[in-house]
This record gives sequence, structure tokens and C-alpha cells, in this order.
Amino acid sequence: MSLIITPECNTTFAYIDTANSYVRENIASLVKTPYFRHFKLDLDKQCKFWNAQHFCATENCAVEVLPISEYDWEHVSNEDVRPNKLAQISVEDGTNLTCDEEYTFIDDGHECVYVDLVENPERFTGYGGTQSFDVWKAIYQENCFPETTVNTAFANGDVMNLTSSTDGICTEKQMFYRLVSGMHASIAVHLSNDYLNPETGEYYANLKAFMERVGAYNDRLSNIYFNYALVSSAIAKLNTISPVIDSIKRDEGKIPFDQLVDYEGPLDALTTMFSQSKLIDTSSLFDPEVVGPTLKDEFRARFRNVSAIMDCVGCDRCRMWGKVQTIGYGTALKILFETDEEKDDITFKRTELVALFNTFDRLSKSIESINNFKKLYLQHLDDV
Ligand code: FAD
Repeated sequence: MSLIITPECNTTFAYIDTANSYVRENIASLVKTPYFRHFKLDLDKQCKFWNAQHFCATENCAVEVLPISEYDWEHVSNEDVRPNKLAQISVEDGTNLTCDEEYTFIDDGHECVYVDLVENPERFTGYGGTQSFDVWKAIYQENCFPETTVNTAFANGDVMNLTSSTDGICTEKQMFYRLVSGMHASIAVHLSNDYLNPETGEYYANLKAFMERVGAYNDRLSNIYFNYALVSSAIAKLNTISPVIDSIKRDEGKIPFDQLVDYEGPLDALTTMFSQSKLIDTSSLFDPEVVGPTLKDEFRARFRNVSAIMDCVGCDRCRMWGKVQTIGYGTALKILFETDEEKDDITFKRTELVALFNTFDRLSKSIESINNFKKLYLQHLDDV
């Protein structure tokens, strides 16, 4: 898949398909638990890049906001957690990284609301046209490293062949592009898999939409698998720094016991699976002697911008899932590139853990859907 996957890593598409079939049920049930289904965000934050309108053209774009009293325990526990051996929860503490060292912006303020991600699924909303095109364009053209996007649709034609465009481009810059493109492709898989039939009002798996957006592009498919490998490796690493369940258990007093036990099984299965099989090796990346002293700063600044662009998405439901996923990828990057044996005082906000596991669920569901679309495609070939 890429230079950063080492020969000893067993990372073929088929391998990930199989691994995913083992963990799919676990991650799907984990994100339905109270801790992981409630997400805090500011839905009305102004876009700081251009004059974007926050309005939903259709009711499918809407997000239902939770009345805060219904989940008081969750509200109280919305403090930073420290998934490391030494530290305790500290309400005052944010993250120990300075703002410039973070990978994403996280909403925090009086305007924030809570949403139930399960009740507001990621699916077809009808958001499109120049509005969404301009957002993607700003992400690729202005925020990806320029040399990685020269062959994208926004420059010349529609085909982006990463393999032929990567000569001489360092792995870190390729990774940035693949993360963004994989997120874009995963969103497209979900909206194709839950596509609205305007006549019946029902959602169904639309093979044509899938093929047009993702299925016909090997690079887009491959970038989804790449993101799966990256995020699962981050989850495995996080658990070696300190088991995630310990972070959640520190909120024990605020979470009813019967809800707490829900987390243990799925989390255990997930982290065991990915600790045993290393899907990707990122340990040699961002070596200042190889890439220079400033590449990491630039990488972080560009990724923060991508996360800030989510405020410019003119559909609440899409903006919400865009925020979940950019924060999720940012958290994965933070785990992979900012934590090690010496730096065990890095903190993570609850929002980051929620976003990380929901982003992994999105990728896991994408891979399941891709395999279902493969079957639909073969059936379609038989029928013609
Ligand atoms: P777009 O997906 O808008 O893509 C624009 C151009 O980018 C394409 O013409 C193509 O050349 C290129 N491109 C496409 N995919 C890739 C890729 N993976 N890698 C590299 N280049 C690519 N719509 C929903 O229905 N539900 C949602 O939940 C949703 N969430 C969104 C979240 C965000 C953050 C954004 C910006 C948009 C979201 N949308 C959502 C809209 C959706 O992503 C598309 O923009 C819309 O469906 C129009 O699709 P399109 O086929 O015209 O091309």
C-alpha cells in the first residue's frame, strides 16, 4: 500500500477484510454505548475562511441536539482523560501539548451542544453541488501538500493515480493526502450505502452511486484501507500506553455500573486483535534528519486547517460527521507521532477518544459495505 508499511506487516486488502470481519461486531456495539455515542460540538461556529452559510437544504441535513439533563453523568465526565500509567484525571488540565502541537481544533465553549451519534447516522443528505465541491477543493488545493494533489481532479482531469504521482514525494506528505482522500472516500461509501430513495423515503445501498464515487477508483479504495491500518495501529498503541478502559473507568463514579460493563468486552477484543497484528509501521516517520526540522509543524498546521474547514460545511449532519472524523484522525496522528516512552504525560480529551473510536467504526463499516457492494456488483454482472 505504501512505503510505510513494512514487509513484516501483513497488510493486504484481504487480510484487513478478514481482520475487520472479526472486530466489526465489537466496534459496532462499542460506539452504541453511552460513553462513545455522545459527542460534544459547536454546530454554529463561524467558518473562518469564507462566508459560508449554515443552512440545511433538506431535513436530512438536520441534527437532533440532546437536552443536557438526560445525560448528566456524561456531561460531568466531559473532562480530560489521561491514558497513561502515571497520571490521574485532572479537570483543569487540557492537553499537555501546546496549541501549535495539536493536530485538530476541538470545540469547547458555551455554545457547544451534545448530539447522539447513533440517532443521527452518517448517510445521504443531498448536500452537494458547488457548496460541497468548494469545501473539498479548499481541502485538497489549499491544505494538502501541493505536490501530492497535482494529479487530482482539481488540477487536470478526474483520475488520481497516487502510485504514479508520488515519485520523489516524501512518505509523510503522501500520508497526509491519503488520510484526506480516504476520509472523503469513506464518506462517499456511507452516503452510497444509505442512499435515499426519494419516492419511498427509504434508504438503500445504491451500487451506481458507489461505483461512480469510489468503486471505480483503486486509489480511493486503497486509501480507505490505508486509513483503517493507520487508525487501528493508533488504537493498539494507545492501549499499550495505558488501557483505554482504565481511562473510562476513572469516570466510574459518574457512569452507572451496568453501562460501564458494556465497554469491556468490545474494547478488549479490539485492542487484543490489533496489538497482536501490526498493520502499519510509522515509527520511522518525521525523522528530522531525513525530512528536516519543520515538516511535522507544517503537517500539523495543515491538518488543523482541514479540521477548521469543517465549520464551513453547509449541512449540519455532514459537518458533525466531518468534525468527528477529522478529530478522530487527528487523535490517531497524535497517538502515533506525539506519544512514546518518554512522553507519557500526553493527555486526551474525552471528545478525542469518542472521535477516535467512532472514526474507526466509520472505516470498519466502510470496509464491510465495500464487500457488500462487491457482491452486488457481481450479481449485477450476472444479470446483464
Ligand atoms: P465530491 O465528493 O464532492 O468530490 C469532488 C471531486 O473530488 C470529485 O469530482 C472528484 O474528482 C474528487 N474526489 C472525489 N472523491 C475523492 C477521493 N476520495 N479522493 C480524491 N479525490 C476525490 N454528503 C452526504 O450525502 N452525506 C454526508 O454525510 C456528507 N458528509 C460530508 C462531509 C464533508 C466534510 C463534506 C465536505 C461533504 C460531505 N457530503 C456529504 C457531500 C459529499 O462528500 C459530496 O461532496 C457530494 O455527495 C457530491 O459528490 P460528488 O460526486 O459530486 O463529488
